[in-house]
Amino acid sequence: TKPDWARGLRDFWKVGEAAAQERLNWWETHVDDYDDKRNFPSVDKVSRLSPHLHFGEISPVQVWHRFQHKRSDGWRTFEGELIWRDYAQNAILQFPAYASKNYREDFDRFPWRDPSTDDAAARDLKAWREGRTGYPIVDAGMRQLWQTGWMHNRVRMITASFLIKHLLIDWREGEKWFWDTLVDADYASNATNWQWTAGTGVDSNMFSRIMAPLTQSEKFDAARYIRIYVPELAALDAPYIHDPEEFGRRPVGYPRKIIAHRPARERALAALQAMKGG
Ligand SMILES: Cc1cc2nc3c(=O)[nH]c(=O)nc-3n(C[C@H](O)[C@H](O)[C@H](O)COP(=O)(O)OP(=O)(O)OC[C@H]3O[C@@H](n4cnc5c(N)ncnc54)[C@H](O)[C@@H]3O)c2cc1C
Repeated sequence: TKPDWARGLRDFWKVGEAAAQERLNWWETHVDDYDDKRNFPSVDKVSRLSPHLHFGEISPVQVWHRFQHKRSDGWRTFEGELIWRDYAQNAILQFPAYASKNYREDFDRFPWRDPSTDDAAARDLKAWREGRTGYPIVDAGMRQLWQTGWMHNRVRMITASFLIKHLLIDWREGEKWFWDTLVDADYASNATNWQWTAGTGVDSNMFSRIMAPLTQSEKFDAARYIRIYVPELAALDAPYIHDPEEFGRRPVGYPRKIIAHRPARERALAALQAMKGG
């Protein structure tokens, strides 16, 4: 057989300048809601311009000019996100090896679990990539990435934090996977966001900010999003869908959590302390 692995990508993305303009036209009628809705993965309230911007099918300056008549908070916040893109490009110009080296060198001593020598870490990395961690919001994000080549920003933050802090796996493993699977994979934006999440980068040290995936899932109302990408859970309502195991509603075939939140958090903070030398 010849599996058509690219079908999800084709269904989800139209390539080219005309498609970028079409998306920009659509976005003009939605950008005003961006401030309130951009963190909610269940609704279509982000621009999805990232691959078009990455491949130069539209420029950030064109986008900026189109919205100059806008005065809404939504536009102001969106403008700030476009500037993060430039910030990332600037970081890479100054530190070309940013995708492969910790900017903060003390993290070179961090006691990561290494999937190349530790079978349990290798299993965890595989479960993360395949969206089989037992955390519905993480699994939905990783499956969205595999099926469509894109993941909502809030969920990128949650899945990245989960790999680095819950699983204690080096951010560079995640950077590589996103690099291989994102349609908007961008050397600068990918590296800066992974280093930002890990706390290893030029920004403030964020390692001890450990996102609680189950709380995030409820707070940002991810139930509909989970139902789309994790069909095993499609019959569950909120709040059960955010944490089926805790409520005794885990369907057969959906994995148990590969690690519980609290011990994972404690292990991560202890590792940070060990790196600091006590
Ligand atoms: C771990 C991780 C890895 C990421 N890897 C990439 C990547 O490889 N390529 C990429 O383009 N973005 C990356 N991002 C940033 C962000 O998630 C995407 O730009 C955004 O989700 C794309 O969807 P959108 O076009 O609907 O964004 P919108 O929310 O509509 O934002 C508009 C544009 O602003 C820019 N932008 C928004 N947020 C960021 C950000 N945090 N950093 C840099 N630029 C931003 C993008 O060009 C985006 O298209 C990553 C974020 C995380 C947490």
